[in-house]
Amino acid sequence: MASHIVGYPRMGPKRELKFALESFWDKKSSAEDLEKVAADLRSSIWKQMADAGTKYIPSNTFSYYDQVLDTTAMLGAVPKRYGWNGGEIGFDTYFSMARGNATLPAMEMTKWFDTNYHFIVPELGPATKFSYSSHKAVSEYKEAKGLGIETIPVLIGPVSYLLLSKPEKGVDKSFSLLSLLGDVLAVYKEVIAELKAAGASWIQFDEPTLVLDLDDSKLQAFSTAYSELESSLSGLDVLIVSYFADVPAEAYKTLIGLKGISGFGFDLVRGTKTLDLIKSAGFPSGKYLFAGVVDGRNIWANDLASSVDTLNALEAIVGKDKLVVSTSCSLMHTAVDLVNETKLDSEIKSWLAFAAQKVLEVNALAKALAGQKDEAFFSANAAAQASRKSSPRVNNEEVQKAAAALKGSDHRRATNVSARLDAQQKKLNLPILPTTTIGSFPQTMDLRRVRREYKANKISEEEYVKAIKEEISKVVKLQEELDIDVLVHGEPERNDMVEYFGEQLSGFAFTANGWVQSYGSRCVKPPIIYGDVSRPKAMTVFWSSMAQSMTSRPMKGMLTGPVTILNWSFVRNDQPRFETCYQIALAIKKEVEDLEAAGITVIQIDEAALREGLPLRKSEHAFYLEWAVHSFRITNCGVQDTTQIHTHMCYSNFNDIIHSIIDMDADVITIENSRSDEKLLSVFREGVKYGAGIGPGVYDIHSPRIPSTEEIADRINKMLAVLEKNILWVNPDCGLKTRKYEEVNPALTNMVSACKLLRKEL
Ligand code: GLN
Ligand code: ZN
Repeated sequence: MASHIVGYPRMGPKRELKFALESFWDKKSSAEDLEKVAADLRSSIWKQMADAGTKYIPSNTFSYYDQVLDTTAMLGAVPKRYGWNGGEIGFDTYFSMARGNATLPAMEMTKWFDTNYHFIVPELGPATKFSYSSHKAVSEYKEAKGLGIETIPVLIGPVSYLLLSKPEKGVDKSFSLLSLLGDVLAVYKEVIAELKAAGASWIQFDEPTLVLDLDDSKLQAFSTAYSELESSLSGLDVLIVSYFADVPAEAYKTLIGLKGISGFGFDLVRGTKTLDLIKSAGFPSGKYLFAGVVDGRNIWANDLASSVDTLNALEAIVGKDKLVVSTSCSLMHTAVDLVNETKLDSEIKSWLAFAAQKVLEVNALAKALAGQKDEAFFSANAAAQASRKSSPRVNNEEVQKAAAALKGSDHRRATNVSARLDAQQKKLNLPILPTTTIGSFPQTMDLRRVRREYKANKISEEEYVKAIKEEISKVVKLQEELDIDVLVHGEPERNDMVEYFGEQLSGFAFTANGWVQSYGSRCVKPPIIYGDVSRPKAMTVFWSSMAQSMTSRPMKGMLTGPVTILNWSFVRNDQPRFETCYQIALAIKKEVEDLEAAGITVIQIDEAALREGLPLRKSEHAFYLEWAVHSFRITNCGVQDTTQIHTHMCYSNFNDIIHSIIDMDADVITIENSRSDEKLLSVFREGVKYGAGIGPGVYDIHSPRIPSTEEIADRINKMLAVLEKNILWVNPDCGLKTRKYEEVNPALTNMVSACKLLRKEL
């Protein structure tokens, strides 16, 4: 039986590409240096896949920045403003589109489906001229061939490319992106011809949009596109891959009806209904089924025995020689190589598989199905699965019982929000338009050094506490001088809002090199939730009460909410996500109650990533929102009326989930607002009633620009036009961690002045 890998991480096991890119961007190294690092990475990945016995090895899954941007370059669809004059697109134009340059901002970036990867959104219009302008796919194919490795070149499919694009600014509303299909296909034909001439025998089109809710006209575009390509593709075997969810029944029909296609790839990990669909709707005879049984989105070792069962069931339908073992999606969404994890203990390590290990799993499965089972590999895997199931580190009966008791019940604060706000106001006595910030203050080099040295045992706990205390005291004084109403301690003890909590909770593990590309050269290192989550002891009370003791103003306790911790971690796959979320919620609930008992009267529970967890398909939104919002409420349902619960979110795309946000029942919500042309306010303009406190950000903290008093006052006035003055809070968009004090001081000064100006008029 054959094996296939959808795609592979390009950063390198130790983020080699990141460092090469950044050094090139900083002009510390040459383009040749960068190209050398990239070529070495590619060849080692190809060799690794070949050595493992992989039959279908992908090429063109490497990228200097983003695979969608690579496609934009291939199609020559460079927005006019970048001043490109034709010819092969080089680093200059490519990185200007990706990152902006001295005079131009970058193109927009957005989330790649429900992953934490971000792609560069193509901007297209009726005047966009397409021309074959990057030969990367062909040169990578040839490069592998030169190394003696036959690969299957991967292209983003033409329909998904268009569906992921946006109309360029100023284009008429009636313009349809799919109207560009013919022009785009003309370039694909050239690429295909060149790949054929270079000797390719297979070609892979990634069409992940097939898993979305698509209407008939969009589905029709797939039929149109592949009919149009049919004659160019003749002589080639063509694979279409979908991933991240089930292909809906209608789309499945369209897909298997496409002409000239030899194989179809499905995500059998997230696509739990695919097997049934194949059974009920049938699978075209003589075609290959690429079965994505090895999870590209997580870090768990595959349950090989159970995969063998799935593969056997599929084999009975499609036949032995037509089944190919594959990954559920590109492995770029998982960590790179477990070999570099020297600090993880061997038990936990035995439960894991990163990209390099997943390549071995895919091939071990293929061999087993072909009757050449590697007994040692399979029995080690079975032993690891068994130890994971029974390990006392995974199972905590008390936690399981407590979480199980939450299901089907509801948790709400006893009193309604307006009565609570009255009770809180009596206690807090805040002015109208109260000011606050989101939590973090600038993280200086000194601060990072202190934390690093403490972690490495280079400074004592006493020295560490002293340094952090000094920092908190500085931040408190500054806020008092600025005359901010509700203070924060500045989060100097945290390097990351999830890691900080994960490190103190049981059930979490941390890797040294488990990086996953987020965008460009940026990577994140998600914690691994492997077991039942509990909180051995208070996590933030020490610092928060210290900070509160420094001021008579209210000091916000600062926590990360359960949904955000969940969505920014590698989550266990042996129980539903909501169960893990409930467990985290219970741990955070204890922290909330300890903070309250320690005299903290305002507690902020950040849910920065609540929206990110929304499933790809609308039919699944309600269920997710129900348990996510419930989890949030669990954390604070038990506090007194006079304890004020804040939450914070870093996006303003609320229109579709506003009722869930209201249902979170926080006393005050602070939200990003300024980058999105006040999209948020339009929700309220349209008549949604909001009775709790709300602080739409009054300036963008992502930019070094300092907003003037007038500008902020103007923003607040716009808010006052749609929101009642007694519920409005004034705050920046998000935390100030990435800014410098030279920016923060004047910006906050202007923010408070704007408030004071307006208070006089109200
Ligand atoms: N409290 C966090 C901070 O201010 C919130 C960060 C976030 O929303 N991403 O840094
Ligand atoms: Zn934020």
